[in-house]
Amino acid sequence: MGVPVSQMWAVASYVVRQKLSGRKRYPLVLMLEPLFRCNLACAGCGKIQYPADILRKNLSVDDCLNAVDECGAPIVSIPGGEPLLHPDIDKIVEGIAARGKYIYLCTNAILLEQNLHRFKPTKYLSFSVHLDGPREDHDAAVCRDGIYDKAMQAIRTAIAKGFRVTTNTTVFNHSSPERLHGLFDELMQMGVEGMMISPGYQYEKAPDQEHFLNRSQTTSLFQRVLGNAKRSWVFNQSPLFLEFLKGNWKLECTPWGNPTYNVFGWQRPCYLLQEGYVSSFKELMDLTEWDNYGAASGNAKCQDCMVHCGYEPSAVDATFGTWKGLLASARATLFGPPKSQPVPEEAVPQAAPPKPHFVPLSMDIHAEDKLEPVAQSCD
Ligand code: SF4
Ligand code: SF4
Repeated sequence: MGVPVSQMWAVASYVVRQKLSGRKRYPLVLMLEPLFRCNLACAGCGKIQYPADILRKNLSVDDCLNAVDECGAPIVSIPGGEPLLHPDIDKIVEGIAARGKYIYLCTNAILLEQNLHRFKPTKYLSFSVHLDGPREDHDAAVCRDGIYDKAMQAIRTAIAKGFRVTTNTTVFNHSSPERLHGLFDELMQMGVEGMMISPGYQYEKAPDQEHFLNRSQTTSLFQRVLGNAKRSWVFNQSPLFLEFLKGNWKLECTPWGNPTYNVFGWQRPCYLLQEGYVSSFKELMDLTEWDNYGAASGNAKCQDCMVHCGYEPSAVDATFGTWKGLLASARATLFGPPKSQPVPEEAVPQAAPPKPHFVPLSMDIHAEDKLEPVAQSCD
């Protein structure tokens, strides 16, 4: 199984239309954050550190659909926070699907099974389940025991009910390639449609600052994670983005490719940095000083960033914009990615995973899922 042909066609024809119209900057995926609340408090998360009045806010259904219409991207990713905590998430999904847009609803899956009845299986909707490794690694990354098992059970149920399910994995400097390989095998056997993998971004607000990767650590680690990728592993990412992560393909960031809309408005310049907000998509595109961003700009905040929201649209643009990119993508799709030279383990010193600790009571603001109070979390 893989991405439906209709979705591939929607994206390819959209990109070709942008190219033919001479549009220099175009959005590919709208990052729609309908709320910042979450029922977890992961150590590497930079999205949930807002005061309670902000965490309680929800975008309305109309706000969300207006943003989808303004932006025009063929794909809408719904991260958060935890989108399943939004009281109208089913209506938001229904409205976006009715517009013929493809949706990735990102979830930690704690509430997925009990909310499945609110959604209809459709080619337009995929649940993208957060899984940062096998059981021990994932539970350490999300700072709570038992979440891996809950997520895996929810994935099985969602697939059995006919939903599209993908996964998203964030890689840190304590991630083990061998253990990730075991996770990939298991997910494929379960019938997951495709996996997304990306290095974490060093959010200034994230509680854990010790486990992010710099650029050379990222490429070394990804050579070991993806260097001998099995043909059975399906990644729902561009072949060129995966080659970029391994250091085999040069890309520059296209931050406008994944514009972000949330309770503050349109976020400048990208999903990761918060350098002001504007009230319309047009203002975002017209008034942002795009040359100030990306590794080539010299911006210190961008030097170690190789995250999918900046570089996946660059990979798609390179695929459809150059014969070299198109041929490399076709070759990787048909014959598998080129094998990387083996990277010695010592080239990527592996850090210890985050240490468990007690979550402060203030985090109860996120616990609207009525789970038992959080017992353990990490620094
Ligand atoms: S699941 Fe973790 S990473 Fe995702 S929004 Fe919640 S706290 Fe952040
Ligand atoms: S390099 Fe990363 S942080 Fe910088 S603009 Fe691009 S996506 Fe944002």
